[in-house]
Amino acid sequence: MPVPTENGWLADLHLVDHHCHGVIEGPVDRATFEDLITESDVPAPDGATFFDTQLGFAIRRDCAPVLDLPSFASPEDYLARRAELGGEATRRLLRASGIGDYVIETGFKADQILTPAQMGAAAGAGYAEVVRLERLAEQVAEEVGPEDFLAAFRDRLDAELRTAVGVKSIAAYRVGFDIDPSRPTDDAVARAVGDWQAARQPGQPLRLSDPVLVRLGWWEAIDRAVPIQFHVGYGDPDVDLHRCNPLLLTDLLRLARGSGASILLLHCYPFHREAGYLAHVFEHVYCDVGLAVTYTGAQSAQVIAESLELTPFFKAMFSSDAFGAAELYYLGAELFRRGLQRAFTTWAGPQGWPEEEQQRVASLVAGENARRVYRLDQAPTTTFGRPGARFSR
Ligand SMILES: [Zn+2]
Repeated sequence: MPVPTENGWLADLHLVDHHCHGVIEGPVDRATFEDLITESDVPAPDGATFFDTQLGFAIRRDCAPVLDLPSFASPEDYLARRAELGGEATRRLLRASGIGDYVIETGFKADQILTPAQMGAAAGAGYAEVVRLERLAEQVAEEVGPEDFLAAFRDRLDAELRTAVGVKSIAAYRVGFDIDPSRPTDDAVARAVGDWQAARQPGQPLRLSDPVLVRLGWWEAIDRAVPIQFHVGYGDPDVDLHRCNPLLLTDLLRLARGSGASILLLHCYPFHREAGYLAHVFEHVYCDVGLAVTYTGAQSAQVIAESLELTPFFKAMFSSDAFGAAELYYLGAELFRRGLQRAFTTWAGPQGWPEEEQQRVASLVAGENARRVYRLDQAPTTTFGRPGARFSR
């Protein structure tokens, strides 16, 4: 039975990265680069390096040749070559990734990274934008008082959704999922905004961590029947990992049934099997293992295979969750293709899955599911997959 090879049809898959961020522009020193290849918020101990991780080894093995170095070039040689190439290193890695379209979330360190349009230009790819709900609430709360907040938030969200193809919630970082998921009342929202603004420390920006206002964002998005991404599982140390098991969202998922909104569970590691179950039983739930694929490196094929145990093939999605370093987009895509290849080798060969069926399933996960859920083809202003083109709703 034919089995795809690393250079076979999998290499030609058109990938839609349904959740990622922008690349940092300009030179990056070693400390900054090491910070970009870990989810920890402190440097490695003296004498140690984050290159000594699955991700670090994947960079040296797979990214070094893209920059004309031998596999397993030293970190010093790699970073020197990267600096020598400058923006060319970013363009090479992005263009070698095979990602044809980027769905970019701009709510994190937006002032330091390329804009979606700049990403599209650097990568020679299409792009779309996703808006972070909590950031939107913070912006609105900087501008209006408790009585005007709700109307202003709704107006701002409607305005953003004229071009953005979906929203994202980072509730996992702010309150966890073990909260009452119900729709808050207008009075509760006004009270929460008043308390939040009153508790503000002088000179500090507003940072949303009130469950009432997090839930408001969820429900306003549900009302608009848009795709809603949730950060789930693994992330930096702000996350209380035990409070962001996606099973804790079960009641919300039930409440959102029939609304027309899609719920996209991002990353999910180490809860990717729980996420697969939710995608299996709830018609509006989807999941990916972005971020986990890059960070588990040589072990990522197993994570990908596990993520496809219960998840229907029309519910699994590809994402890199890359931020800052172009290596993370390249590896997110390359390791994803290899993981699919390994899974097909393990399942499809012995089970006799025809090659055209393998290709069909790979295309669904690689991009067609994202294209359908985010309605990328319905964009009035552009054609799906046209380099440099922007999707909008
Ligand atoms: Zn992300």
